[in-house]
Amino acid sequence: MAAHFPSPELFPAFYILGLFAGSLIRFCFTRGKRKVRSAENWSSRADPLLLFLVSVGMLVLPLVYLLTPWLEGFDYALPQWAGWLGVVLFSSSLWLLWRSHVDLGSNWSPKLEIGPDQTLVTGGVYSRIRHPMYAAHWLWALAQPLLLWNWVAGPAFLVALLPLYLVRVSREEQMMLSRFGEQYREYMDRTGRIIPSLCSRGSL
Ligand code: SAH
Repeated sequence: MAAHFPSPELFPAFYILGLFAGSLIRFCFTRGKRKVRSAENWSSRADPLLLFLVSVGMLVLPLVYLLTPWLEGFDYALPQWAGWLGVVLFSSSLWLLWRSHVDLGSNWSPKLEIGPDQTLVTGGVYSRIRHPMYAAHWLWALAQPLLLWNWVAGPAFLVALLPLYLVRVSREEQMMLSRFGEQYREYMDRTGRIIPSLCSRGSL
């Protein structure tokens, strides 16, 4: 009988570890920051639903897959290198999540809002891309199907993240433009959205 390598539990175990580390980063950096008095709220009515879908995609379905036998019939197999690629992508995602929380500091908000004391951050990981937190989430979403070999739990976050990203990112940029005007426009000219810009004006 052919030996299973690596142990079938290795990559899912890495996902659980990453889920824990990601939650810890969020918790440590955002504790007590939800009560910031909001001068302007740009959230759309769809936001609560989109955020709910994201938590189903990155948390609920992976946990159902990992803790119950309910999704067993939807498993697939990948070569070992794909799992290791998932480990690299997931580690990069956690690093970027951590760094973007450090750099954004007290400007972080779960909503699209601009607080009265908001400043424009253009340093650290924000010096090359405007949305490193979203970039971290995309890396996570790409890693998930490489770590969780299941047609339901694997791609769930990719599917859930796309509508949130499409709805929020341009709205957020409009909000930042309305507050910071020319300063944000210049910042847009030298950065990409989630991929560092090679040309003068990056939209991705
Ligand atoms: N979209 C960013 C930030 C997500 S947190 C990212 O992906 O990294 C969302 C809040 O961050 C927004 O409500 C906005 O007020 C704030 N924000 C976004 N970009 C910012 C910047 N460059 N400087 C300061 N605050 C910013």
